[in-house]
Amino acid sequence: MASRLRGVETAILPVSGWHSSVRLAPAAIVYALLALLTGCASEPATPVTRDEALIHVRLVDKIDYKPSMKAFGLSRCANGVCVVEVLRENYPYCVGHEIRHVFEGDWHAGHESTEGC
Ligand SMILES: [Zn+2]
Repeated sequence: MASRLRGVETAILPVSGWHSSVRLAPAAIVYALLALLTGCASEPATPVTRDEALIHVRLVDKIDYKPSMKAFGLSRCANGVCVVEVLRENYPYCVGHEIRHVFEGDWHAGHESTEGC
């Protein structure tokens, strides 16, 4: 998306003779439209089960989850304190997935997911 945004800026810059704030206006409109497109394409948010947490994030080499499964990340919470473990080899890709568990609980209940990993 960043490269697309840079492309939009490049396309707008050749417009000459406008005051700088006027040149920014088309860019702001494009950014707003892109934000709307992103919002329309995203999934409905899972209800948040926790408003705040103290999170300890650890990069680890192995996660003990289920004997026959390789977990990329794991989160556990108790009394508002959460421990998130992410396999070092997957960092930073699984951090967001596990942070979602902190705030949304079992957001992909009923199936294993590597979304965000
Ligand atoms: Zn998960």
